[in-house]
Amino acid sequence: MESEKKERVAPPPHHVLVLPFPVQGHINPMLQFAKRLASTASGIFRVTLATTVFFSETVQVKLTGGSVRLDTISDGYDRGGFMEAATPEAYHRRLDEVGSRTLVKLIERHKGSDRPFTCLIYDTSMHWALDVAAGLGLTGVAFYTQSCAAFAIYYYAYQGRLRLAVEPSEEGGRRTLSFPGLPPLSVSDLPSLLFEEGSSYEPVLSLKTKQFSNLDKADSVLFNTTQELESEVVSVLKGFWPVKTIGPTLPFMYLDETSSGTSREEDKDYGYNYYKPSSTNYIAWLDSKPEGSVAYVSFGSIAATSERQMAELAWGLRDSGVYFIWVVRASEQQKLPKEFAAETEERGLVVTWCNQLQVLAHGATGCFVTHCGWNSVLEALSLGVPMVGVPQWTDQPTNAKYVEDVWGVGVRAKADQEGVVRREEMETCVRQVLEGTSRRGEEIRSNARKWREMVKGAVREGGSSDKNMQEFVGELVNSDL
Ligand code: UDP
Repeated sequence: MESEKKERVAPPPHHVLVLPFPVQGHINPMLQFAKRLASTASGIFRVTLATTVFFSETVQVKLTGGSVRLDTISDGYDRGGFMEAATPEAYHRRLDEVGSRTLVKLIERHKGSDRPFTCLIYDTSMHWALDVAAGLGLTGVAFYTQSCAAFAIYYYAYQGRLRLAVEPSEEGGRRTLSFPGLPPLSVSDLPSLLFEEGSSYEPVLSLKTKQFSNLDKADSVLFNTTQELESEVVSVLKGFWPVKTIGPTLPFMYLDETSSGTSREEDKDYGYNYYKPSSTNYIAWLDSKPEGSVAYVSFGSIAATSERQMAELAWGLRDSGVYFIWVVRASEQQKLPKEFAAETEERGLVVTWCNQLQVLAHGATGCFVTHCGWNSVLEALSLGVPMVGVPQWTDQPTNAKYVEDVWGVGVRAKADQEGVVRREEMETCVRQVLEGTSRRGEEIRSNARKWREMVKGAVREGGSSDKNMQEFVGELVNSDL
């Protein structure tokens, strides 16, 4: 009788579709978010993650047996993804067109099932998805995978309050700009895309500003950040949209050891990596190093470093005399100076890809030389690892500004007139942050510990992000959205 009753229980009425922009730095946080949503509202929601045909194969492996299902749309480049497109512009044009068409198909295919989609949580990089949701009667929720500060700056640009396409001339570079909710910014702290008009980045910038064109229609706007990290700008943004900070969406095992929210096994199984981690046993290598003695160096999944910059980084690391583990993707390896491996084999390890969270969480890791991609910054903040910022493009200069001046958890390496960070600068920054013998170094390390507790507190039960997540789920359940 009992089991018969159970079988007749109605299926959960809510089916949420999560749609990330198809690149590593967007899929990962939205996948983690999807997983958290499924566990927070377990039994109430079904959660499906949609990605492109091309990416679905690599994601699929990680989803086997998990609580999040997988479905696909097409970006029009099923065999090679964005790498197959002739230009970023061509990619975005095709994604807009084929993506929206196949998203409609996906939602309609489920309409006749016992679990039709009721809500679409879309990456704001695909603003057209909100129109699809509205057209098909779904709740539309925007998800922004970068900082509130970057979002606000793009919004001011969209409003015309920031002049686009101004070269950051020497004079202009020294000018301080004031915007509501943001610290005083110099031109070099702004996202680089604002200066790239006419270049191949223009479509990326237009994507960043187009996201505002229909955002007023979103039922909620979620950010992968915490209230504490960006309190002033969060307050400003709340005046425009129904904003909720719910981050960081890292696996719970790295944030809250006491959590029963998601199982550790599922966490382990669930990260998303487009690149295959190196077969080198870098964890064993880290195990053999003293506490806090290693500089971890990585510039993320997209940034291509110039050959000159690569050489300066390489020699700076060598000259610093510290242990280092450096992620150089296979496509970048030929830029390493020829003699580098031989000259540094005692102290350094170069890998093509790693499990970054595992490396940052390792006791031997004492500092993170980073391009300041938002995920990397959030990961380092959550694990209390001080940073040396070497920003490359997009929002990274703004993130580096916050790392150095707002949170005081690192330094931004100064670039020369050609935009290259020289070896001497690299050496000084790494030693200052890693060795921490100066007053500044001590402060940085103490701030990193302070922010780690603050960020972890936000996702623990009753913390700001946890409360926002519960509130969001409540609104969805009660269909207030
Ligand atoms: N990452 C990783 N292994 C690596 C390098 C990076 O797992 O060897 C992950 C990192 O943990 C982060 C993401 O890739 O989650 C990079 O995102 P981020 O926003 O920092 O930079 P992007 O790749 O978007 O420039």
